This record gives sequence, C-alpha cells and structure tokens, in this order.
Amino acid sequence: MSVLDIIQPDNPVLRRKARRVTSFDRRFQKLVDDMIETMKEAKGIGLAAPQVAVSQRVFVARLPDDSEEAREEFGEQAGVLYVIANPKLLRVSKETEEGVEGCLSIPGFIGDVERPVAVTIRGQDRHGNALRVRAEGWLARVFQHEFDHLNGTLFIDIATDVRPIEDEEEETGESNTTA
Ligand code: ZN
Repeated sequence: MSVLDIIQPDNPVLRRKARRVTSFDRRFQKLVDDMIETMKEAKGIGLAAPQVAVSQRVFVARLPDDSEEAREEFGEQAGVLYVIANPKLLRVSKETEEGVEGCLSIPGFIGDVERPVAVTIRGQDRHGNALRVRAEGWLARVFQHEFDHLNGTLFIDIATDVRPIEDEEEETGESNTTA
C-alpha cells in the first residue's frame, strides 16, 4: 500500500464529475487500499477518489475509535471502515442540521454546513457487490461530503462562515473532522 498525494482545488480533477467504477479489478483494489492508507495517514474521516486525482466514483470513510470521546460520540459506527463505489443517495431526511466540516483538499479551513441528518445510500462494495447503508449524524455528514466530491462539489461551495482553523478548535478536535 502507498500513501497518495491529496490534491487541492488548483487541480481540475477535484472539480470534475467522476466516472462510474466499471471494473473491480486488481488495479481498483490497489486504489482502494491506497485510499484507506492515505486517509489514515492524513487523519481524515473520509476520502474520495478525486481527492487523489482519480476521477472515479468511489470513496472511503471511517469514523475514529481511538479515544473515549470518539467511541462515545460515534457509537457502533466508530472504527467501521466503509468503501462505497457508485453511490446513490436513496433517501434523504427532511430534517437538517448544521455541522463544522473541513476537507483534506482544503487544509487549514473549516466552515458550517447545513445537511440532512440522515441518508440512505445505495452503491457497491469494493468487490462490486450491491450494498445499502443507512447513516445518521456524523456518518451521514461524511457520506454526503464524499458524495459531493464525486460531483466536483467542495464544502466551501455550500458552507457559511469558512474560516481558518484556530488553535483552540484544533485542541477541541474539530480539525479531526476533515474529509
Ligand atoms: Zn473533502
């Protein structure tokens, strides 16, 4: 496995609508492994293929389980690794909430993003098998953030009050919610 370079908005791949994954071959498996490794190394909770300059519809996500607080906050979703290819948002809750987001492709900044609190996603796992996941709270937020990446949308397009991460927020762990 290798750690890939995470691109920033000056690279046009990040703004492109990514293509469907059509081949779940060895090359794709390596991409997925490298994305997991890259997310881990960057201490992110999600990563979409366009962020590593690969224009394919796949993302990985994993909420942290490395602290008492994280385990408490994320419950049974803490530490679960998700690999979702060709995702479709099936159901989106009417209820929305605002949350603080960051992005590995836009280091040093956070913003407030209003999103539905729950989503049901349909897609394929890393081997091409159909999957369906219902997510609430932070996981739903990460899924939507990553889904946006596949369409070339960045959180700064929809966030209010985009601001530099303050030291204080870094300490309270808000910067750990970058995806
Ligand atoms: Zn992002």
